[in-house]
Formats: sequence, structure tokens, C-alpha cells
Amino acid sequence: MRDLLAGWGYSDYHAGRLWSYLYRQQVSDLAEMTELRPELGQRLAAETCLGSLATQREIQSGDGYTRKFLLELPDGQAIETVLMAFHGRATVCVSTQAGCAMGCVFCATGQMGFQRHLTPGEIVAQVLHVTRLLSLSSHKFPQFPGNSRNSKELEGQAISGGLLRNNLHQSAPSASHSLRNVVLMGMGEPLHNFEATRAAVQILTDDSGLAIAPRFITLSTVGLVPAIYRLADEGWPVRLAVSLHAATDEERAALVPIARKWPLSELMAACRYYVEKRQRRIFFEWALIAGQNDTPEQAHALGRLLHGLDAHVNLIPLNLTAGYEGRPSDPAAVRRFQSILAEYNLPSTVRQRRGLDIDAGCGQLRHGLTATDEQRISG
Ligand code: SAH
Ligand code: SF4
Repeated sequence: MRDLLAGWGYSDYHAGRLWSYLYRQQVSDLAEMTELRPELGQRLAAETCLGSLATQREIQSGDGYTRKFLLELPDGQAIETVLMAFHGRATVCVSTQAGCAMGCVFCATGQMGFQRHLTPGEIVAQVLHVTRLLSLSSHKFPQFPGNSRNSKELEGQAISGGLLRNNLHQSAPSASHSLRNVVLMGMGEPLHNFEATRAAVQILTDDSGLAIAPRFITLSTVGLVPAIYRLADEGWPVRLAVSLHAATDEERAALVPIARKWPLSELMAACRYYVEKRQRRIFFEWALIAGQNDTPEQAHALGRLLHGLDAHVNLIPLNLTAGYEGRPSDPAAVRRFQSILAEYNLPSTVRQRRGLDIDAGCGQLRHGLTATDEQRISG
């Protein structure tokens, strides 16, 4: 932005004002940027575009904690963004690609294939979409259900596709929900879209803009080995989560095709490098699939695989998708899996199963569209 404005003869001061309007005040209309010089405003209006994403569909979970948006990109592609709020804190799950090229068999996004990378602006615009909603309309955001039937049901459940922590308590309604967490866990593989994801993280964390604390940004990757080394070397300040799903090569390759390219020995070497270089804990995602990767053998193999590593495992009972017949693990299998990990002193969390009634699992909203809807999206 500085470069663009410098090319037009404006100093950094003007770029700073524009930046602040966009990311601090989150103004979505150039006409509202009254402190910009009028001729600058006119030129921006003529030569640039203030991207905001149109909402194609919006749905809300019955429990009121989750809102899911199908947002339309300028070329008609549709991506998913999910807003989750409880305890007065909000988390947004954003997409980094339209579709995904990695083809994980249990994933709705993987099943739809790859359409294209998102630009940094399109990644950040998803965050702005929810911060604007949060600041405009806390009264419109569903009030927490308190003692309602739904919240009771939720508390007892095990987990999935949800990106939420395992600490839901009955919560009093909160007047305002500020966005704290950004998770790069929507559609797409962030490290396959490396440069745009990096630029988006830089924008999100910029102190004079949205100022999201880097420790509250989580990047989840299927495990692109060279990219993990790169982000360790470049010192990205975000939390890293690696989607493991199996602790032996053959089982992993059956779920995550990319595992054929980088076997576990190479992936784990990259993860160990990251932890040593960054001096940070690393997180592993594990979608629990009944009878597949929830066995005691896999739990022991995982315990051995992560031995000595500063690691935390997030267990996510599988979300059902149209293109995969696996089933989520039952609660007893989840508990058994967790207790075996505990024998290896490996901390783990079982994720809340929330938003399932609105297809909150990755890629599921778009996947669930009718043919007519799909035609409309592709323009
Ligand atoms: N591409 C990245 C981030 C997006 S997917 C990655 O794979 O890590 C975010 C998380 O959702 C990943 O851990 C992924 O394995 C998981 N996931 C995808 N489909 C799922 C499903 N049907 N049930 C449970 N978890 C799923
Ligand atoms: Fe892509 Fe992640 Fe889905 Fe795999 S799980 S297909 S990497 S979005």
C-alpha cells in the first residue's frame, strides 16, 4: 500500500491512514474515509477495489454458538468461513484455498478437488467479515443458551470438525464478543498457498491494524515437509498444527495421499526441527475414525512416534461426509485412545462436537449444495 501510494506521490502518512481505516476502523466504503485527501479517495475508487465478500449462504447452529458463512469470491468461487463464539470470545476459521488439492479421503474439501488459491486479501477479508459483524451487532449474535437443552446436550458430547476447545461450561450471555482466535483450518491447505498465507498472517498480526496476537493464530497443515522447514526458518510466530491421523505410513497414506510423498520419518524430522528451532510446542490433529485409526495399536504407535517431543494431540471424532463411509469413534474408543496417550505423557484434548447441525466440518457447507446452487456459484 505504501508502494502504491508512493507511486502516486503520497507519503507514508497517507498509506498509514488508509491502513488504519481498513484494518483498525474496518471501514468498508471509501466514502467513509473522510480524512483522506479527496483526490486520493477518487483515485483509489477509480483504480483499486475494496474487497468484501458477498454472503451466499449463512447458517447458524441450533445451539447458537456457531455461524457458518458461504462467501462468494469475485470470480464466483465459494469458500467457507466459520465464526464460533462462547465465553465472550470468538474464533474464526478461515479458508486459504477454494477446494484443496490434497485429497484426504475423509475431508469434504478434499473430495471436491482444487479450484484455486486465495489471495492474501481474500484470506483477510474473511476475518474482516466476522469482525465487522461482531462489532456491529453483538445483539444480533445469538445469545448463549445458558441452561437450554442444546447446551446441555453439547456438554456431554465428544467432538469433531469443530475447532473448539474442550472447555465448554454453561455460560452466561455476554454483551460483546471480541475476536481472539484465527484458525487457518477452513477449506484448503495453507502451506500449499504459502506466500499468500504468510502475507495474510502479516496483515492480521500488524499492530496498527487488526493486531491479532500471533499466539492466537493456528495454522493447520496436512504436513508439507519443505514448507514446515521454511516456516520454522522464517520464524512465523503462529501456532503450528499438523494433521497426522495415523502413526504408521501405510495407514496414513490410506487417509492422506500426500503421505506417500513424505513418509512419517521425514514429516517427524521436520516437526522436531520446528520445535527445536522455534522453541515451541507443536500440535497434532487426529480425526478419530471407528476401527481405522482409533485402535490401541495406533494409540501406542502415536505415543512412540511423538516421544520426547513437546507436543499436544487434538482428537476430533470424524465428521461424516458424503464421499467417505468411515464413522466417528464411539466415546469409549475415544477415552481408551486418550488414556493410552496419557501413558506416554502425551497431552491430548478431545474437541467439542459443535456446529454439526450446520455442516461445520471443513468443506461441508459447500459440498452440501444442490446442483442448482453449485451452478449459481460457478457463475
Ligand atoms: N489443510 C489443512 C487445514 C484444513 S483442514 C489440514 O489438513 O490440516 C482442518 C482440519 O480438519 C484438519 O486436521 C483435517 O484433517 C480435519 N478434517 C477434515 N475433514 C474432517 C472430517 N470429516 N472430520 C474430522 N476432521 C476433519
Ligand atoms: Fe485439504 Fe486439509 Fe481437507 Fe486434506 S484435510 S483435503 S489437506 S483441507
